[in-house]
Amino acid sequence: MLTMAGLAFPKAEGAEIEIRQGGTQLGIELGPGLGRDVDGDPWRDWMRTALRAAATATGRVPRRRIVVDLRAAPSSHRTIAFGQVRRERPPRIILWVDPEADLEALKSDWRGYHELAHLLIPFPGNRDIWFTEGFASYYQYLLQSRAGLISEPEAWTRLLAGFRRGIQDPSGRGRTLRNLSPDMWRDDAFRRVYWTGAAFFLRVDVRLRVESDGEHSLDRALARFHECCLDTDRRWRAAELVERLGMLSIASIWREEYRRTIDQPAEPEIEPALARLGIVSDRTSTIFSEFPEARQLRQAIAGRRTERPDQESGGLP
Ligand SMILES: [Zn+2]
Repeated sequence: MLTMAGLAFPKAEGAEIEIRQGGTQLGIELGPGLGRDVDGDPWRDWMRTALRAAATATGRVPRRRIVVDLRAAPSSHRTIAFGQVRRERPPRIILWVDPEADLEALKSDWRGYHELAHLLIPFPGNRDIWFTEGFASYYQYLLQSRAGLISEPEAWTRLLAGFRRGIQDPSGRGRTLRNLSPDMWRDDAFRRVYWTGAAFFLRVDVRLRVESDGEHSLDRALARFHECCLDTDRRWRAAELVERLGMLSIASIWREEYRRTIDQPAEPEIEPALARLGIVSDRTSTIFSEFPEARQLRQAIAGRRTERPDQESGGLP
């Protein structure tokens, strides 16, 4: 594949930095306070890393163009204070960052991967916010471990901590997900809704892989969805996405897990998946089974992916 690193691409309005990588053109807009001299600027390298990580879901980021709008966070103890996706054309990711953040801190913060993961699937509307937030929360650490930014056990440990935050969230306890999801903002039930959704995707992913002997997976269903269905103007609700992703993999698994989730009390149900993954965890420790089936399953989901040489240098399709 022809390498075009260094070629000038037309800038989006306001974009100071342009990156082209693996078929995605990414324009980075820098807000006041974020322009540094070129040598000390971490934004370009961070975004290259984030794009490479996001591509580990299906092999490519299924967006021709993305705008990343970086804004200086007023003052925060976090590297990335807050992130948001706007479904414009092209989609816009807004990240409020520490203006002094260094590259390593940016690469290790999950929020950049979380927001990019949102762009791997259509927005299902605010009533079904659990679906898109669960999806991004499930992938945020997996993208990091697959890209080699954190270890595979670390990805599981962080996922488990997330599920625990969802279980312990005092908001919305006892309400069904169908009922709670539209009220997530009003009732401040973010953790419960996000992580109940993430548990749905973990269970689906594990079942697809185990029940097909590795032929199916969430990644593969997603790749097929990108081929058939992402580039249309169609609006999707979660139930419709469940049906379509099921058609592209194993419909009964998606339907069963959806039914198990949507009208049950909103709480991350992870035990069946953890048993398959060979993970035993409590507040103080996490033990990973050495049984080959469990180890291989964990590796298949969260293990490091080998890099494709054209992705780093900005290959053109
Ligand atoms: Zn999100």
